[in-house]
Amino acid sequence: MTMTSNSFDNLNLIPQIRKAVAEEGYETPTPIQSRAIPVVLDGKDLFGIAQTGTGKTAAFAIPILQRLSIEGGHERGRRVIKALICTPTRELAIQIGESFSAYGRHTGIRNTVIYGGVGQLPQTDALKRGVDVLIATPGRLLDLIGQGYIKLETVSIFVLDEADRMLDMGFIHDIRKIMDKLPKKRQTLLFSATMPPDIVSLASAYLINPSRVEVTPQATPVEVIEQSVYFVEKNDKRHLLAHILKDEAVVSALVFTRTKHGADRVVKDLQRAGVNAQAIHGNKSQNARQRALGDFKSGHTRVLVATDIAARGIDINELSHVINFDIPEVPETYVHRIGRTGRAGLSGIALTFCDADERAYLRDIQKLIGRALPVVEDHPYRSTVPLTNMEPRREERRPERRPEKRNEREPRRERQQRPRHEPKKESKRDQPRHEPKKEQPRSEPKPEPKPEPKPVQGPERRRDDRRPRPHGPRPKDDRPFGKQKRDGLPRVG
Ligand code: AMP
Repeated sequence: MTMTSNSFDNLNLIPQIRKAVAEEGYETPTPIQSRAIPVVLDGKDLFGIAQTGTGKTAAFAIPILQRLSIEGGHERGRRVIKALICTPTRELAIQIGESFSAYGRHTGIRNTVIYGGVGQLPQTDALKRGVDVLIATPGRLLDLIGQGYIKLETVSIFVLDEADRMLDMGFIHDIRKIMDKLPKKRQTLLFSATMPPDIVSLASAYLINPSRVEVTPQATPVEVIEQSVYFVEKNDKRHLLAHILKDEAVVSALVFTRTKHGADRVVKDLQRAGVNAQAIHGNKSQNARQRALGDFKSGHTRVLVATDIAARGIDINELSHVINFDIPEVPETYVHRIGRTGRAGLSGIALTFCDADERAYLRDIQKLIGRALPVVEDHPYRSTVPLTNMEPRREERRPERRPEKRNEREPRRERQQRPRHEPKKESKRDQPRHEPKKEQPRSEPKPEPKPEPKPVQGPERRRDDRRPRPHGPRPKDDRPFGKQKRDGLPRVG
């Protein structure tokens, strides 16, 4: 991310926090940090327009920790919740909790994280022991308020994180319920990546004379990601994947499949081929997902296979490759997927497998990104299906297109947690759209497929130094999908 010429020394931070920030390896505050920290320290309301990835967690966590340390409330007997942070997903909640623990490690401020989909006992035990900062997803928060474990009357700082995502996920009523339970006299910080009218009206309803801080999203333009497409027949995709993974340049790969079963199948095939791979999807328990993610981040697992839903809200800073094993049906999803690579100033490579049935989706993607993807022809599994015959007309396939987020059935617990008005995320998508074709023997190299539009030259690999790579002990890796820039070229973030 772009640093300003500011230093943390100019932000009047107390030594305990200054020390922790230095231990995290942060040298200069990011733009959102240098602008938001003074506002929050001043006790003012804040309307922050910033995406995850801009350093916004520290932008609110640092001044909150400082204010609570100075107030010293935790020294007076039992701790009560003084700051509440509401965020849409458990992955984000966990990451925010880790940030509070890291930046607050010398302050004595205690935080806990609560989220649904797991047993509540460890969470209620932590609450009983007393916390200063509570980080919560809305469903579990309301649940525990209802059961009497949480009271909000002592909260003096409230953060609504990723407000636009909250709305997208159908949490608006929960948010209003929560906000109505908060004391009138409080400081409110609202962060959102985008500013649709609903967010503006939420902000005007709940913020008092807020300072507005907007930072340009640290988006990765799609052009800087090296992208290419492989025409391959459906049954050859697994062989092609194993073939690509023989290349040691593929340090870490996030592989996207359309379905959970598809993800499991890919993992099985890779394991058979001797590649260390794990799947992450909604059928796995929260613990299994965290473990798979942890193994991947630590480099223990080289390949993580995910569905779009499972990958939402996870972020891996040093990902070398995104591989679209299945082409996304919604072109914007392609942009979101490939934005997982090429972060933090590293080069990014996105490879897309396209079988005969997927070519129309490829065409939509190329239309969206405004260019044709270079075709990789030098591989042993080139499709023999002529390109021209295979394109269904848009109208013919339209009924099949649904938002990707409906592709995967959630575990029951998550469904129960989901507010009633949120659209159900299930479909029969786990069924293949067509009968799988018989695998053909592949003794001869196949004739080269003709690329649809004229391929364009791939961009140079990106290697910029806009952001020094953070170092330090804390894993810092949960980000949701980047937002789609509505006007102009799509950007990913
Ligand atoms: P966030 O937008 O809060 O999710 O932060 C994105 C990433 O930037 C996280 O990995 C943070 O650890 C990292 N980060 C936050 N602030 C700084 C900073 N001032 N210098 C370097 N890295 C930072």
